[in-house]
Amino acid sequence: MHQKKTASGNGRVPPYAGGGNLTTMYRPVQTSVPPHTCGSKHARRAALLLVACLLSLLCEGAVVQGAAPILTEAEKEFIRKHPVIRVGINPNFAPFEFLDNWRNYAGIAPDYLALISEKTGLRFAPAVEIPYAATQEKVWSGELDLLPTLDRSAEQENKFLLTQRYYEYKLALVVRADSPFKSIDDFRGRLLAVQENTSNAQFAFSTLQAGLSLYASEEDALLAVADGREAAMLGYLPTVLYAIRELGLSNLNYITFGSDNNGFCMGVRTDLSELRDILNKALAAISPSEKAAIRSRWVHVGGIGDADEKRRMRYLAGGSAALLLAMATFIVLKLYSHRKKIALHRQHESMLQEMVRQRTEDLQNQTRLAVEASQAKSAFLALMSHEIRTPMNVVIGLAEVMLRRELPADAAKEARHIKQAGVSLLSIINDILDFSKIEAGKLTITDEEYAFSDLIRDVEDIIRFRIADKPVDFIVRIDAGLPDRLRGDMNRVRQILLNLLSNAVKYTRRGSVTFTVTGAMPADDRVRLTFEVTDTGVGIRQEDLEKLFNSFGRVDIQNHPDIEGTGLGLTIARSLCRAMDGDISVTSEYGKGSVFTAELTQGVVEHRPRKASAARKKPRTVSFIAPEADVLVVDDLRGNLLVAEGLLAPYRMRLVTCANGREAVDLVAKRPFDLVLMDHMMPVMGGVEATLAIRALNEERCRTMPVVALTASAVSGMREMFLENGFNDFLSKPIDVAQLDAVLLRWIPAGKRISMPEEASGL
Ligand code: ADP
Repeated sequence: MHQKKTASGNGRVPPYAGGGNLTTMYRPVQTSVPPHTCGSKHARRAALLLVACLLSLLCEGAVVQGAAPILTEAEKEFIRKHPVIRVGINPNFAPFEFLDNWRNYAGIAPDYLALISEKTGLRFAPAVEIPYAATQEKVWSGELDLLPTLDRSAEQENKFLLTQRYYEYKLALVVRADSPFKSIDDFRGRLLAVQENTSNAQFAFSTLQAGLSLYASEEDALLAVADGREAAMLGYLPTVLYAIRELGLSNLNYITFGSDNNGFCMGVRTDLSELRDILNKALAAISPSEKAAIRSRWVHVGGIGDADEKRRMRYLAGGSAALLLAMATFIVLKLYSHRKKIALHRQHESMLQEMVRQRTEDLQNQTRLAVEASQAKSAFLALMSHEIRTPMNVVIGLAEVMLRRELPADAAKEARHIKQAGVSLLSIINDILDFSKIEAGKLTITDEEYAFSDLIRDVEDIIRFRIADKPVDFIVRIDAGLPDRLRGDMNRVRQILLNLLSNAVKYTRRGSVTFTVTGAMPADDRVRLTFEVTDTGVGIRQEDLEKLFNSFGRVDIQNHPDIEGTGLGLTIARSLCRAMDGDISVTSEYGKGSVFTAELTQGVVEHRPRKASAARKKPRTVSFIAPEADVLVVDDLRGNLLVAEGLLAPYRMRLVTCANGREAVDLVAKRPFDLVLMDHMMPVMGGVEATLAIRALNEERCRTMPVVALTASAVSGMREMFLENGFNDFLSKPIDVAQLDAVLLRWIPAGKRISMPEEASGL
C-alpha cells in the first residue's frame, strides 16, 4: 500500500486531531500575509490584485455558509445527553475517509462531520482503534454510533438508520492515454481490473458483462493499467482521481459514466433515530458552496481526465492562464509606465524646484538691489534737498530781508522776482521729496485740529497774488454751511488745492478760474469735501486725460513751451486725496477749459460753520517786538546768519551769533538767553550734540531754556528726532516768516514781548 499524504491544502485542517481524540476541531482559514517587499505602493496594490484574481479563479468564489438547522427540543436534549458520537472509520478509503501520515482522521466524510459539528454542537470521535472490518458489528453492539460512508442500499437500510445521501459520485473507466478505446461500450465483454469486494466489481460484471481481473486495492488496479498489464480498470471517480494524483501517474485517461445515483450516506445505530434526524437537518443546512469547497479540496482534476472534461479543463486552464498572463502583463506594463511617469514627474518636479529656487534667488537679489537703490535714492534726495535748501534759505531769506527795506521801485521788483523764483524752486524740491516719499510708501497724513476758514483764506490769498498780473478773474464760492473746526492734515489739503488752482492759473490766459467748495456729512463726525476748480484755459485732449496723473506726465508741451512744471503735482495731489479717502477726477474740452474735482474726507470737531469773513486784514509778519529779549543764533554759514539777523531785526531783540555748537555751549554756560536758534549740521560740534551738552550743564536755566532747531533737512521724522534730543521746537529752512513769527511768539517770554498794533505790522 502506498503511503498517503496529508491533505490540508486550503488552510482548513482535518477536524480530528489524532486518533481517539474526542475533540472536534474546526479552525478558520488563517492566511498569513508575508511582509511586502515591493518598493512602491502601486506594486503592492498590483500584487494584491493578482493574488485576489488567482484566488477567485482557483476557489471559484468565497464559501457561503448554510443556515443553522432548526432543531426540536427533543433533538437539543439528545445533543445534551450525547455530547460525543463515536464514529467507526475506514482508514484506507481516501479521499472519502482515511488516516493520514499523522494518523489524523481525514477526508470528505470527516469534513462533513466537522461542518455538522459546527452547525449542531455534536462532537464526533473517530474510533481509530477499531478495525474497519469490525465497525458494523460494533454499531450493532452499541459500541459505535455512526458509520459515515455507506452506500444507500436496501441491505444497509436493514442494518442501520440511513441519512440522506450527502455525497454523490460517478464511476470512472481508466485507460492509458494511448488507448484506442474511447467509450464505455468498447469494453462490453472485455476484461476489466477492479478492486475485489466492491460494488464496482458487481456493476462491471452485471452491467458491462465484463470479465473481472480482481485486485486488492484500486491503487494496484491503476498501476496495472499504467504499466500495460491491464487494458482498463473501473473505480469510483473520486478515489481514482485521488489515487492517480497520489501515485503520480501521468499516462492515464479516464471516461466517466454512470448516473449520479452513486453516493454515500451515513449509517446510524438503529436506536438513535434523533441522531439520524439531527444529521439529516445538519446535512440539509450545508450550503452548495460549502459542499463545493469540500469536493474541490479532495477531488483534484489534473493531469488526466476523460476526453471532454480534459478538453474543457484545458480550455479553462488555458483561458485562465491566458487571462492571468494578460492581466499580469497588463499590470507589469502599467507598473512600468507608471514608474516611468513617476520618474519623469520627479525629474520635472526637481527641474521645476530648481527653477523656482533660482527665480526666488533672482527675485530676492532684485528686491535687495531695488531696496538698496531706493534707499540710495532716498538718501540722495534727502542730501540734495538739504544741500539745495541751505543756499535757497539765503536766496529767499535775503530777498525777504531786502523787501522789508525801503528800496527803489526797480530794486524792489527785482528782489520780488528773486524771492518768487526761489519759492518756485523750493516747491519743485518739495514735490520731488514728496514723490520719493510716496514711492517709498512713507507718505504720512497727520491728524490735527484746524480752522477750515483759515485754510481757505491762505489758499485764496496765494492764488490771488499769483493771478494778479493776469486778465483772469478768480471767483471763489464756498458753501457757508460747512463746519469750520475740522480734523486732518491741513498742510496736505492746502498742497492739493494749491496744485489744482496753480495749474488753473498757469494754463489760463484769459477768462476765469472758479474755485467752488461744497460738502456733505456721511456721518456726524466726518465731512466729505468737494473742491472744484474750473478754468477757461487751454483745456486737455480727451486722449491725454489719464496721462496727467502719471508721474512726470506733462501733456501738450509743444503748444505751451513757456509754462513751467515737473509733471509731478497731480500725481502727488491724487495720492494725497486717496490717502484721505478721496480722489481727483478731471473733465476737459480742448481749447475751452477744464474742471478738476478733488474729493476728500476730514474729521469734524465742531458743526458750527465758519464765520462770515470780515474785511480781510493785511497779514502780519511781525506780531511783537522784544527789545529786552536775548537770542542766540547758531549757524556755520555766514549767509544763513545774515538771513536770520535780517528776519529777526524787526523784533528788535538782542542778537548774539556764533558759528558752531561748541561756541554755543560755551556762550550758554556763561550767560542766560531767552531763546537759542540752533542749526543742525555744523563743523566742530553739530546742533544735536550741542543741545544735549547744554541740557547737561549744571544750571537749571540750561535745562529749561528754549532751543529751536533750524534745519534744511526736510526728510520725515526730523521733528521727532529733534524733540527727542532736547530741542523744544523745529523751524525748517528756508525760513517761512509766518512760521518764524509763530515760533518766536511761542518761546519769547510773554513778559518781554510788546505786541505790535495790527495796522503797523507787516513790512
Ligand atoms: P505740472 O503742472 O507741474 O506740470 P501737474 O502734475 O500738476 O504737473 O500737471 C500735469 C500736466 O497736466 C501739466 O503738465 C499739464 O499738461 C496738465 N494740466 C494740469 N492742469 C491743467 C489745466 N488746468 N489745464 C490744462 N492742462 C493742465
